[in-house]
Amino acid sequence: MRNVKFGVATAALLAATLTAAPAGAETTVLSNATVIDGTGKPAMPGSAIVMTDGKISWVGPMAQLKAPKGANTVDLSGKYVMPGIIDGHVHVGMMKDVAQDVKFYDRANVESDLKVYAAYGVTTVVVAGTDKDVIIDIRNDLRKTRPSMARVYTSGQGLVQKGGYGGLYGLNVPISTPEEARKAVAAEAAKGVDLIKLWVDDEREMIPVKMPYTVTKAAIDEAHKHKLKVWAHVYYLDDAKELARQGVDGFAHIVRDKAVDKELIDLMKAKGTWQASSTLSREIVYSMAVMPWINDPFFTRGVTPGTLTALRSPEREKNVMLGYLRVPGLPYEKKLFYDMGRTVVQAMDNYTALVQAGVKTGMGTDSGPNGRFPGFNAHEELQMEVMAGRTPLDAIKSATSDNAAWLGDKTVGSIEAGKWADLLVLDADPLADIRNTKSISAVYVAGNSVPTIWQTCRDRPSNACTGGWKDRSPTPY
Ligand SMILES: [Zn+2]
Repeated sequence: MRNVKFGVATAALLAATLTAAPAGAETTVLSNATVIDGTGKPAMPGSAIVMTDGKISWVGPMAQLKAPKGANTVDLSGKYVMPGIIDGHVHVGMMKDVAQDVKFYDRANVESDLKVYAAYGVTTVVVAGTDKDVIIDIRNDLRKTRPSMARVYTSGQGLVQKGGYGGLYGLNVPISTPEEARKAVAAEAAKGVDLIKLWVDDEREMIPVKMPYTVTKAAIDEAHKHKLKVWAHVYYLDDAKELARQGVDGFAHIVRDKAVDKELIDLMKAKGTWQASSTLSREIVYSMAVMPWINDPFFTRGVTPGTLTALRSPEREKNVMLGYLRVPGLPYEKKLFYDMGRTVVQAMDNYTALVQAGVKTGMGTDSGPNGRFPGFNAHEELQMEVMAGRTPLDAIKSATSDNAAWLGDKTVGSIEAGKWADLLVLDADPLADIRNTKSISAVYVAGNSVPTIWQTCRDRPSNACTGGWKDRSPTPY
């Protein structure tokens, strides 16, 4: 593998953003870039972006640029700029290597994850109901300042049915009745969460309990009283339909038990229900004994040595290959391994159907828990959206301005004057090949240049910190 030095470029970028600007305002001009603004508009070559105090103050053609006097300029000739990615479904702070436990959740671990997301160009994340209350302080602090890590939306502690599926063990307090659902929603609203999350699943009929519709209805009604959107983990087509009828605002996963039909599509369109995150990349890891990206520096640089060791172990391969087939006494015995592969296909087919029907869709990965990787999965998800039939331009829109629209956030998600300068600068054209979102040259959060995955080696021995995106052998597409 060729050894590529990034030091000079990095230093220049940092110097550009750290230099004090005159007249109290910090202004940086990104010049000569091809801008993909995230709204679905075609790419605009020969463009400039002016960042003032962390916000985009102007974007337009180079010919019309009036660079403020004394502004720092970063020449982005040959490079592409898109909005920072918004990952609409993550979990944070729960992992140490491949161990997942509520005891690992603290401010430091959450912020460590948020820095990994930012390194991969994911500048906003939406956490799906597994946060401790400290997340409110973290989120508020990020909103008060110009952060150097990903911004956060939180669903607090999502609602889990007693004895049912979902949540983070030891964190989410299970509920049983509609009354308890209302109380739980009111308590989350009082904390100041952004969204309410529900889990409606029985893990392929493995668990005898699933959240009843009386409980989901109470939760949705109560959330709407508090002007909060509700998003639900779903698996079954029938549940998705009933929840859409009840007014749920979004789904955290795509339907995977059977093909989506006209009834669901019509319901979602009539009610304005979002496929808020599709989590296609989530499905694929469960069917893989050997991960094709296990030696890809784009992946390895974002995880700990302990994670790599565990993922490369023969025990894991054996467990994936054989473990699913040998779970004694469960109704899905001898069938789940097949189902896992089938689930990926069903998820992809359903995603294609929803997109083609014009249902509102946002990008989300469900990264964070064991086997799904912060930041890395967002790029896998974009690839899978394109495999499912979207154009790269449209996939990028789903992960930027569409997700901002789902969140009701007018400050991020596109490259337009007035928005935060949350930007992903790429060396290669993502519209020519969506995999080029991995050619990360720079990431800005509120105009702050943060270390990219090609500039950092996450807790790794320094001798492993070699190679840039050009040294990668292509990943399977
Ligand atoms: Zn999740």
